[in-house]
Amino acid sequence: MQPIRTFNVSPSLPPRLEPLRRLAYNLHWDWNVDTKDLFRRLDSDLWESSHHNPVLMLGTISQSRLLEVVEDEGFLAQMDRADRQLDDYLQERTWYQKQREQKPKECYAYFSAEFGLVDCLPVYSGGLGVLAGDHLKSASDLGLPLVGVGLLYQQGYFAQYLNADGWQQERYLLNDFYNMPLHLERNADGSELRIAVDYPGRKVYARVWRVQVGTVPLYLLDTNIEPNNTYDHDITDQLYGGDIDMRIHQEIMLGIGGVQMLKALGLKVTAYHMNEGHAAFSALERIRLLIQEEGLNYVQARQVVASSNIFTTHTPVPAGIDLFAPDKMLHYLGYYAEIFGLPKEQFLGLGRENTGDLSGPFSMAVLALKMATFSNGVAQLHGVVSRQMFQGLWQNVPVEEVPIAAITNGVHARSCVAKSTQELYDRYLGPNWSSAPPDSPLWDRMEAIPDEELWRNHERCRLDMVLYVREHLVKHLTDRGASASEIIQAQEVLDPYAFTIGFARRFATYKRATLWMRDLDRIKRLLLANKDRKVQFVIAGKAHPKDIPGKELIRDINHFIREQNLEKQVVFVPNYDIHISRLMVAGCDIWLNTPRRPREASGTSGMKAAMNGLPNLSVLDGWWDEADYVRTGWAIGHGENYDDPNYQDEVEANALYELLEKEVVPLFYEHRDSDGLPRPWVAKMKDAIRLNCPFFNTARMVGEYAQRAYFPASDRYHTLTVDNYAPAKELAAWKEKLNEHWFNIRIKDVDVSAASDIEVNQTVAVKAKVDLATLTNDDVQVELYQGAIDANGDIVNAIPVVMDYQGEDAQQLSTYTGNITYTASGLQGLSLRVLPKNPNLANPYEPRLIAWAE
Ligand SMILES: *Cc1c(COP(=O)(O)O)cnc(C)c1O
Repeated sequence: MQPIRTFNVSPSLPPRLEPLRRLAYNLHWDWNVDTKDLFRRLDSDLWESSHHNPVLMLGTISQSRLLEVVEDEGFLAQMDRADRQLDDYLQERTWYQKQREQKPKECYAYFSAEFGLVDCLPVYSGGLGVLAGDHLKSASDLGLPLVGVGLLYQQGYFAQYLNADGWQQERYLLNDFYNMPLHLERNADGSELRIAVDYPGRKVYARVWRVQVGTVPLYLLDTNIEPNNTYDHDITDQLYGGDIDMRIHQEIMLGIGGVQMLKALGLKVTAYHMNEGHAAFSALERIRLLIQEEGLNYVQARQVVASSNIFTTHTPVPAGIDLFAPDKMLHYLGYYAEIFGLPKEQFLGLGRENTGDLSGPFSMAVLALKMATFSNGVAQLHGVVSRQMFQGLWQNVPVEEVPIAAITNGVHARSCVAKSTQELYDRYLGPNWSSAPPDSPLWDRMEAIPDEELWRNHERCRLDMVLYVREHLVKHLTDRGASASEIIQAQEVLDPYAFTIGFARRFATYKRATLWMRDLDRIKRLLLANKDRKVQFVIAGKAHPKDIPGKELIRDINHFIREQNLEKQVVFVPNYDIHISRLMVAGCDIWLNTPRRPREASGTSGMKAAMNGLPNLSVLDGWWDEADYVRTGWAIGHGENYDDPNYQDEVEANALYELLEKEVVPLFYEHRDSDGLPRPWVAKMKDAIRLNCPFFNTARMVGEYAQRAYFPASDRYHTLTVDNYAPAKELAAWKEKLNEHWFNIRIKDVDVSAASDIEVNQTVAVKAKVDLATLTNDDVQVELYQGAIDANGDIVNAIPVVMDYQGEDAQQLSTYTGNITYTASGLQGLSLRVLPKNPNLANPYEPRLIAWAE
């Protein structure tokens, strides 16, 4: 039955409790232990049953309970304190203000297909979303003028449950937006703010919801409204649901709709950050607006867009990238080619590495890379892999110079460290530990935390996790209609005092969730051997609904548990989410990760574990490859890459067993003092915190994005757009001139002062004559390129040296001089090259032109 009228009924609170409403609608409560405590105190059962959703809680709590707390002085005092804390937080003078005091107004828009902020907003699937959520939280902590842009999924990502055979089933729950911490954005006249996005043959409308994340607003688009047709209602129905056509519909809404939404909100955005390629269509829409509303031509508009665009890639394998067939691209987005004045093939070339490949698919990552002037991978190793993967986009640029930087991921400390542990750190390190940099003297105070206190706190966290897992399993089995004996068994799983190995993440096959089961005899020996050295596993994670091999891994684990009668010792916790993650990274003893290197771009759950004092036990991939894996955990293998996956599994499973048998479990159980305190283990816990928390932290990470990407991009935006875009037009014209003449540049006579036999540290003078082909010295920089020669005869690890311009000779050849010295002996090489130079370029590789000596 359709309603004839609808009402948005808001919770009715006694006036004295009005601050609760404000607190509930700002997600700051998620990383402020006092505020979270306040909601738990209000009604702890409701707090749990609402999935920690304070808005739903305030809407459903009984009037009698509200009247009770109005009389509760202690509660009111805590509420007023939380309210003041929020005020202080919102008014604080921030890191950003100190950095950018004299700058014109800025706004950074951060686009992501998913955001994992709190468990009551299930619009994320895994690490990418949690990273985006943490990015917003730290942007708020630092005071950045950042806004998030995403989609509000009616059903979100699925809830997982297992059938009796251990096979993953999916259940899609409807999100009730009106009972979530969401504000509907409205126009001045009170009507819903709406945008209309062009799709083939129709417009699709979307309204806008805001999640307030501290000072940062996250705006989410919702197409589940009239007069959209039923198909279009579903564009924002499920995260990563549907087929390839649905995917392109979603990415149009995210990218193109996102830009329109920012405009409708009146935001003057100066830097755009595309978190993964899903939002890359935003570049097309920005170009269109500059052409149609600002009168720029395509080349000029593209310059403005690229100069202010930032792209972060998270995918170290080509198979993980969104690709669209050319005919689909033209069907959905072909009208942009007309607006841009581009032939179809040239338009499709924006998403092709090799623009000459006329049948190749359209890659969102390639589009993003071509439309950004700052790009990065998410760990140092991932930077290396990305530079190799996309080297073809920068012809003749040595792979180590391919302009894809690396900004290592982090996690938001106040969101992932257990409450009691945060209080412990607050007490001994002071409240700034959650964002203090690695060189802060605060970290020396780690030693002041008594071993006993850290250990007892950790044991409490383990117990909390065990109790939660039991309760959660019982509920899951009851819902499934499991037998009474199964339910009784679930009440007793795990030993709160046993050594606990944690493994939780998405069940993508490359993560090899079953590697530890590979040798049945050996794992059974470990699990069953010694009664005073009990070992147990807690495992969780969802497979993508279409990932059958991923689901098979889940089933294999459940079969293994049953066949080996290990129900008490190995537990698969269904429906992994942020809440379960937080309990596990605090309550396990070690965090296991066994990805197939180098496929884990970064990985973040291990960082969360480290901040809670867990050593990691992991393959050297992603972030762990650059961590202090000797002092803060153990490395499985030595960072080898293998061609034969089966052989790799064999070698790495063996290495894992060796470490567990000979090092990890003994360190945990041996060397206990008379109080049962494992001092050497606790020392490792302290190292895990001290050495990882300050670096693998989104406070550091977002600061790095700000300084390396947002500030420069915003500055470029301001510089290029003054005087009605005059500098942008000039830069675009200059690039066109460059393109026209570049291929006539010739490096002519190269004069080297020494013969081929020289000594280490001997200075060699080089003089070169360059035909700049009507370009001038102001347009270029000429560089010496010196380095060792490898087995293939190529110069490697070169250090470029800029040469000095000496003027033009009678034949109009430009003369350049420079000196080199070799600091190492052996076969060394020298080359020369010319690169474009312009103060408004983000980097010399931006025009994708380079001329080498022949
Ligand atoms: C942190 C987190 C992840 C990411 O874990 P990885 O180790 O990076 O795979 C996934 N899901 C949830 C719920 C998380 O909290």
